[in-house]
Amino acid sequence: MSRLTNPTDIARETLRQLAVRRIPPTPDRYEEIYQEIAGQDGRNAPSLHPLVRALVEALRAMPRQTTELVRQLSLIEKAGLAREWHTIPALLIAGIEGQGGQAELTRPWADLIRALITQWERRSPHFNSARKSESLGRVLVNFGSSPALLNQKLDALVRSWSEGEVSGIETADEENPPVEEAAPEPAPTTEPVPESGQATPAWERWREMLAKTLQIGLAERLTGYPELAEEAASLAQAAEAVSSEQGLDFLYGRLRRFWIQLELKSEREERVARGLVNLLFLLTDNLVALSGEEDGWVRGQFEVVRDILSQPLNMRRIYDAEVGFKEVIYRQGMLRDNLSEAQASIKSMLSLFIDRLGGMAVSTGDYHDKIEGYAERIQDASGLGDLHHILEELIQDTRHMQVDITRSRDELIEARTKAEAAEQRIDELEAELRSISEKVREDQLTGALNRRGFDEAFATELARKERSGKPMCLAMLDIDNFKKLNDQLGHQAGDDALIHLVNVVRESLRPTDVVARYGGEEFVILLPETSLSEAAAIMRRVQRDLTKRFFLHNNERLLITFSAGVTLYHDGEGQEVAIERADQAMYEAKKAGKNQVTVWEE
Ligand code: GH3
Ligand code: MG
Ligand code: MG
Repeated sequence: MSRLTNPTDIARETLRQLAVRRIPPTPDRYEEIYQEIAGQDGRNAPSLHPLVRALVEALRAMPRQTTELVRQLSLIEKAGLAREWHTIPALLIAGIEGQGGQAELTRPWADLIRALITQWERRSPHFNSARKSESLGRVLVNFGSSPALLNQKLDALVRSWSEGEVSGIETADEENPPVEEAAPEPAPTTEPVPESGQATPAWERWREMLAKTLQIGLAERLTGYPELAEEAASLAQAAEAVSSEQGLDFLYGRLRRFWIQLELKSEREERVARGLVNLLFLLTDNLVALSGEEDGWVRGQFEVVRDILSQPLNMRRIYDAEVGFKEVIYRQGMLRDNLSEAQASIKSMLSLFIDRLGGMAVSTGDYHDKIEGYAERIQDASGLGDLHHILEELIQDTRHMQVDITRSRDELIEARTKAEAAEQRIDELEAELRSISEKVREDQLTGALNRRGFDEAFATELARKERSGKPMCLAMLDIDNFKKLNDQLGHQAGDDALIHLVNVVRESLRPTDVVARYGGEEFVILLPETSLSEAAAIMRRVQRDLTKRFFLHNNERLLITFSAGVTLYHDGEGQEVAIERADQAMYEAKKAGKNQVTVWEE
């Protein structure tokens, strides 16, 4: 018989031979006869046992082909060819362990989950919750099918979050995110691989995102608009139910209509907000006009509200003002209670005083009458015995009168002392009330003056300058690269840096100089009785002091610098004109490379 070469013919002949030779058609007997017909002696030529081959193929289909697994597979094949069956189980276990299937957990699950929750909730400047969510999602998708590997990667992730927190700004390098470092063996596919080992099609992931965005991002936020919220939720459900890529297309129309409705609503909201702001503006305007001189503190607060309303609405400014007001209102309430107590005690002193005076008048009137009676009796006295008797009575009455008068006098002195103390208390309380009201002139975060406080200080210094004729300067200061600091370390660190800057600036300046927060990270400084060259020297000194006093963030020393522009105030010009010049000089300092002081020479 000529040798068959076509695999189909060989297979057919193999089946025939199995039947002819009455051999049970087991896979290995089939394999043996097949090799025989194909020209290879099943007993001499090495061939892989079908079971071993099936096992090797199964292992090759596993999602992560680590070098260890590949090595174990080749050993299994060799053992299979050499028919060394006893070694195969151990090699299989080693291969599966390489996949993490049986490997030991890096960290007990309970411990790991606790650490994960702690790190998730901890605020970190390097990993915000979006970033954490993204890296956690990535680990879950890539390693979710292997518990031990998942355990190991999650542990690495948690450690990278916690280390990112203590090791500071360098670890937050965008190009080298710590999560990638924590997961040294990335998944072989670029697509996320679910448990089944099949890549999730992109449209399915988009479907998930769309449904979540609609449900979490929109439906739950549209509380003021039940119809829109309902539509967003129903769209989310519809998105979730989509079972094919084409199915997503059917949502386009509905989504478009939804966005148009949303846009209309937000336009309407904006108009309502603008209307409300105008109304509030009018109201505060009237109230300021109505409040009298003695209500200075009320007026101060209204002016803060007007200040906020005159700028673009900003939640942060509104919140700061609210916090400031709450404190002022609370403390004023307390002071007012104390004030009314002090006034009540003065009133009671006065009524006591009047009572006593009345009492004295009555008793002195009585004595007057008595003395007149004695005088008459003395006139009518007929003998020394009589006179002696009258005199004794008179002495007795005089003693009573003296005791009465002394008592009244003591009581009056005491009343006067108390009244004076109460009066002093009222003075103190009123002064405190005034100083609390002053707070509305301050920036809540840094304690520097706010714009309103600056306007007042400027008016006072201008009047002084007009009397003294001495020069006055203005400086504009702007922190360098502040946005970067905020972005890298978080808003809270930015706030702390602003407080630090104001403290250093204040300590470095003279007590007569005025510091005011002009914008987010911009400050205007008024330098009375100062020439232009002195002003420049002072600002450079502030700059040096700031480089000596580092800003501490999480025990890390950070250098904050600023650029400043200095100008002389020209007689007769408006405050804004001088500030504008200082601002332009500051801008020149920025252009020239930052961290310097530029003088406007005119
Ligand atoms: P330049 O050196 O050119 O001045 O750059 P910059 O980043 O300092 O300037 P830019 O004006 O681009 O950014 C200022 C940033 O200051 C923007 C804003 O996030 C931040 N900022 C403003 N007010 C506050 C505040 O009250 N707190 C904090 N933390 N950040 C603020
Ligand atoms: Mg700025
Ligand atoms: Mg700046």
